[in-house]
Amino acid sequence: MTNSISTRLAVLGSGPAGYTAAIYAARAGLSPIVIQGIQPGGQLTITTDVENYPGFRDVIQGPWLMEEMQAQAEHVGAKTVWDHIVSVDFSRRPFVLTGDSGTQYHADAVVIATGAQARWLGLPSEEHMKNKGVSACATCDGFFFRGKKVAVIGGGNTAVEEALYMTNHTTDVTLVHRRDSLRAEKILQERLFANPHVKVIWDSEVAEFVGGGDPETLVGLDLKSKLTGEVSRLSVEGAFVAIGHKPATGLFAGQLDLDEDGYIKVEAGTTNTSIPGVFACGDVMDKIYRQAVTAAGTGCMAALDAEKYLAAQEYEALAAE
Ligand code: NAP
Repeated sequence: MTNSISTRLAVLGSGPAGYTAAIYAARAGLSPIVIQGIQPGGQLTITTDVENYPGFRDVIQGPWLMEEMQAQAEHVGAKTVWDHIVSVDFSRRPFVLTGDSGTQYHADAVVIATGAQARWLGLPSEEHMKNKGVSACATCDGFFFRGKKVAVIGGGNTAVEEALYMTNHTTDVTLVHRRDSLRAEKILQERLFANPHVKVIWDSEVAEFVGGGDPETLVGLDLKSKLTGEVSRLSVEGAFVAIGHKPATGLFAGQLDLDEDGYIKVEAGTTNTSIPGVFACGDVMDKIYRQAVTAAGTGCMAALDAEKYLAAQEYEALAAE
């Protein structure tokens, strides 16, 4: 027999957006269920040092921060479930969510906080050098490379913004792009080309991330020219892979409005999706800021939007009686 759970509010995803939504919803008396998903704790569980989350003077660890958020959410009354939603039906009321475990969740409202994953180049040496000089977020980790030589890989808005951001920390930034022109907006390109601290290496891809020393840290990138096939070494101590993100929205395609990059569309200034009662927060709807603190902020908004929606539903039901 199918296990069935009914809840006023289901929160999908357990990163800063999901747990913040759960904390606010629990404190509003909605007894939310947080369905943790495939990576409990989200992207912060695969980073180490966090120095930009307000409230902590010392460097904290990403996994620890997420454990604290989970504990806080549970302390105020949210229930955490270790399950992964494999299908949703937003055409029915209550909404029906089916878990990998076989459990069916029936929810009056849903907050989607399933996040996004950075795209990586996929080289074994990239995997090996993560947290040893290779990162996918200059805003998060750039500070650790003050005064050092760094590279940013990619040619879109994110790569150009990250390269410009890094000039706040160092005067030696190299953008490595696989083609001979950038995809980024013209205004960003103009700023990049005008910045004396950034040089661009065109038509090149990373063949290897090179480590050295003890403990091992990044010492360079082996770059392969796409024109000549020649490989040359670029000495850097930090490298930021900025080749895009993939929002976790496959589950919602055909049911919710998504933008051209697959992010959930929300009504400006709210977390309202194209279906009343379904709200989206965090990186799954934000391709610009992508910070733990902005995810937490929109998580709070989603809980408040959901609370308002559920109160209106209740009022309508009472008025109809
Ligand atoms: P993006 O626009 O998809 O650009 C990805 C870049 O990475 C492209 O230049 C691409 O090269 C390169 N790339 C992809 N796969 C690669 C590979 N395997 N090896 C080497 N290079 C690779 O991604 P994004 O810059 O993260 O932006 C995503 C979306 O968010 C866009 O819609 C963007 O406008 C938006 N965004 C907006 C802002 C803003 O408004 N301030 C800021 C950030 C992002 P090619 O050019 O050769 O394809």
